[in-house]
Amino acid sequence: MAGIYVHIPFCKQACTYCDFHFSTSMRNKQNVLDALKKEAKMRVDYLGTEPIETLYFGGGTPSLLNAHELTSILKSLRENYNFAHEIEFTYEANPDDLSAEKLNMLVENGVNRLSIGIQSFDDKYLEWMNRAHRSADSVACVKRAHEAGITNISIDLIYGLPNLEISQWKSEIDNALALGVTHISAYCLTVEPATALGFRVRKGTEKPVDDEAASQQFEVLIEKLAAAGFEQYEVSNFAREGFYSKHNTSYWFGIPYLGLGPSAHSFKPAERAWNVANNSRYIQKIEADELPITSENLSLEDQFNEWVMTGLRTKWGLDILGGTQRFKIDLRTGNENLIEKLVQEKKAELNNGIFRLTKRGFFLADGIASEFFLVEENSK
Ligand code: SF4
Repeated sequence: MAGIYVHIPFCKQACTYCDFHFSTSMRNKQNVLDALKKEAKMRVDYLGTEPIETLYFGGGTPSLLNAHELTSILKSLRENYNFAHEIEFTYEANPDDLSAEKLNMLVENGVNRLSIGIQSFDDKYLEWMNRAHRSADSVACVKRAHEAGITNISIDLIYGLPNLEISQWKSEIDNALALGVTHISAYCLTVEPATALGFRVRKGTEKPVDDEAASQQFEVLIEKLAAAGFEQYEVSNFAREGFYSKHNTSYWFGIPYLGLGPSAHSFKPAERAWNVANNSRYIQKIEADELPITSENLSLEDQFNEWVMTGLRTKWGLDILGGTQRFKIDLRTGNENLIEKLVQEKKAELNNGIFRLTKRGFFLADGIASEFFLVEENSK
């Protein structure tokens, strides 16, 4: 089993908080897409004979592609890779792009899961984020997606926004639930240095995220979504039964994937690789028959740390015996006090050899995971 991720590095406009790789100039669009198809051919051996069970178009904004652009990429993928009979095909989309015509085109091309960047139902916040859509677009596009026959729909929401009151956040969640979607990804606003928001926070014209308010919003989110029948299967991901993202779950279980397009990451056991995050350089390299890739072999410590980081972010937690067999390292060794403290603070639980974070621990997952990280001898 394996997955393919395709990065479409174009957006209509730059959202203030975003540090993904994208360009708002469409000048190179055709050249990037041609290079991407050629990259698919050049890397045909990367996944061996593994059948592809998940395909994910992310970005950037894949919903900017027209029918011809999408079908030609899919044609090149089908010619070069061995797709399973039934796959999960997720397509990231922005509400303002999802006309009935676009949705029908996506369905005709096999898309069976949408991930829609709604972020907020409050136009004031959408404007603050410099999003290209407004709340009415979000409501209308989900309705149209249902009419087009797409029932597996995920939406993204952001909390931790400036001056977001708990009552407002509750109604944001109610608005999301009213759409009848099957999956919600909710992320705390992060101030990345190389973004417009990062610049404003440094200048003092915007406040940094209020961690205490964000933590309360996270708690409310968990409570309200649980009451509505959503399961939190990863720190930021909530799904109705049977609607986990198979593609993202594969990442967390260490299943190999190939990433195509500028800035896309790839992974196979003991190796990760990433493409250059620059459209012009990506095109130049591919046109010169060179792969625009940097890769690194993962040491045993890297693999262990990755296992801890991803495992602690999920509801499945860490199978300590499985980890010991795989890495010859027992998570508990040297961490007895840390584990006991986390359990006492109700941030984690240890049952039947499975160590996992509780709802309370989830908000601090990355920090907690880093306390278990191994440091390589030569990097001390
Ligand atoms: S649409 Fe998505 S990828 Fe593009 S700038 Fe906004 S958040 Fe970033």
